[in-house]
Amino acid sequence: MSNTPVAVVTGSNKGIGFAIVRALCKQFPGDVYLTARDTSRGQEAVAKLQEEGLRALFHQLDIDDLQSIRALRDFLKEKYGGLNVLVNNAGIAFKVKDTTPFAVQAEVTLKTNFFGTRNVCTELLPLVKPYGRVVNVSSMVINSALRGCSQELQQKFRSDMITEDELVKLMTKFVEDTKKSVHEKEGWPNTAYGVSKIGVTVLSKIQARMLNEKRKGDHILLNSCCPGWVRTDMAGPNATKSPDEGAETPVYLALLPSDADGPHGQHLSDKTVQTW
Ligand code: NAP
Repeated sequence: MSNTPVAVVTGSNKGIGFAIVRALCKQFPGDVYLTARDTSRGQEAVAKLQEEGLRALFHQLDIDDLQSIRALRDFLKEKYGGLNVLVNNAGIAFKVKDTTPFAVQAEVTLKTNFFGTRNVCTELLPLVKPYGRVVNVSSMVINSALRGCSQELQQKFRSDMITEDELVKLMTKFVEDTKKSVHEKEGWPNTAYGVSKIGVTVLSKIQARMLNEKRKGDHILLNSCCPGWVRTDMAGPNATKSPDEGAETPVYLALLPSDADGPHGQHLSDKTVQTW
């Protein structure tokens, strides 16, 4: 088994994830895994970094596929005995103009952004080694999406007591409510992407709390963040930040030094803790 530190970035064949891997290749003292659901797209991305003189390793990972997540888990366990840095970056968003029915958009978006990310956490968080760093990529849309929720929902999402089970039930209810066309009546905003990222942000707070309760002595720091508005296939060419600039806050959180005692359980933008 290798003692080399290891970092894993989900959805990193392009966009912000690719830029996070590029930065980690330069700054992380260990093996950096670029992962992708499509093996050829992933290997092409690794080759692109190689042309820049950077060495990333590749492992297949489709966060919608539990078998794929577990294959990565078993690989990390066997080869490294765990992992040191996990960046949950993979995500999807329907374009504003997309005419796919809202209930379908809700189901598909929540499946990857919330349930897929959660499944990765469920399988990989127990493997994170002491002084490990976990970064969940959320979005700035959480603020407007949260304001668009009923007072009752806002209170639940802002609660320091909400459990993972309760959060999963709420995310499931959102999808069910869109299918019955009652989501607005039930207090949800009209944004599947926004609700999915509220889910990621609240999940991060719950996971940080669980680490405090169960693994206090392990000094693991876990946060969510917004990368900013970044020029990728998701956000388009008019966005204000380059992918490398979008990677800055996630990379800052992934590389928090071993003597740092925070941030932990926070949501950050431009390397700054945001109020929620
Ligand atoms: P992007 O260019 O569309 O890249 C998304 C990445 O996620 C791709 O590598 C994609 O793989 C991967 N992915 C999607 N579904 C996956 C799955 N089931 N399993 C594994 N990988 C999967 O988007 P981006 O702008 O870089 O976004 C990265 C993250 O930042 C997302 O979580 C996004 O919500 C968040 N974000 C972006 C912005 C922005 O302005 N761009 C702002 C706020 C937050 P494929 O190539 O196979 O599709």
